[in-house]
Amino acid sequence: MMSHDLQWYYPEKISEALKLIQKEGVILHAGGTRILKTEPRNLKGFVDISHLKLNYIKKEVKNIIIGAGCTLSDVINYCKKTNSLDGLCMALAETASTPLRNRITIGGSLKDFPVWSSLYSPLIALDAKLELAGVKELCSLEDYVKKNIIKSKHIIKQVVIKDDKDIICRVMRFNLVRFEYPIFNVAVALKVKDKVVMDSRIVITGVKGRFHRFKQSEKVLNGSTLTDEVIAKSTEYFVPKFHHDYKYSPEYREHIAKVYFNDIVKELKEDMK
Ligand SMILES: Cc1cc2nc3c(=O)[nH]c(=O)nc-3n(C[C@H](O)[C@H](O)[C@H](O)COP(=O)(O)OP(=O)(O)OC[C@H]3O[C@@H](n4cnc5c(N)ncnc54)[C@H](O)[C@@H]3O)c2cc1C
Repeated sequence: MMSHDLQWYYPEKISEALKLIQKEGVILHAGGTRILKTEPRNLKGFVDISHLKLNYIKKEVKNIIIGAGCTLSDVINYCKKTNSLDGLCMALAETASTPLRNRITIGGSLKDFPVWSSLYSPLIALDAKLELAGVKELCSLEDYVKKNIIKSKHIIKQVVIKDDKDIICRVMRFNLVRFEYPIFNVAVALKVKDKVVMDSRIVITGVKGRFHRFKQSEKVLNGSTLTDEVIAKSTEYFVPKFHHDYKYSPEYREHIAKVYFNDIVKELKEDMK
């Protein structure tokens, strides 16, 4: 049961919010969907983010910039309206339910990084960068996790994604029932010119180490046209490692993930026509 003596703070400046979360037991409250479920221990207060003006999506030169306070629904609506970031849009549209998508925020989802995250695989595949409050340099989403920045006290201000029409991206999630938390999410992003793959990023979440990039599979795709042989070779190197759990064996999930990866690349090949 969460304490009733929790202190709520409603700062209007990010610098103020940053100071507040340095206090012991005080954390940010965005959509609240994870906090409610996990009821973190030793909690003393919440810093509400709704007055921090982090709810925006804008295009700046070659980037699409998403404020951390945007809900999943805000992002889905933007993508549909502007016909951009298809893969991300697809992944978010399958997440949870409409009322939840209207609450869950981008910042809360990134800091939380649940094993069922629908956001991480497309964003890492799209090489998204994060701007953290009070930090000048952008950090890649990969480094945010790998360098354990995710564990520090910080505020995600915005996510920066390249707006490049040559990049095509698709995502698939594995779950038996649509509303169930996905067991894993696979995303593939390809930069394509004249039907040749110039660059690729292949990512899975829900695996050991939280996420994995398949650099050997990417190497096979880079510089090639997507023939059946190239896709088969790339799939050979796509070997995700899963933890044991009571539902499915790691071998079974590995097999399904390989099938999904193969399907995604074949669909991307169709998209290139
Ligand atoms: C039934 C259900 C099904 C779901 N299914 C899925 C799914 O399929 N895929 C998926 O991806 N998600 C899914 N979710 C959402 C996911 O589990 C988390 O609840 C959600 O991502 C948390 O986002 P939030 O905005 O509610 O964050 P909050 O609960 O408000 O906060 C989560 C954490 O992030 C911190 N935080 C918040 N904002 C920031 C910020 N700007 N910078 C730094 N730290 C911050 C908070 O202090 C807290 O530690 C589901 C949730 C539910 C309840």
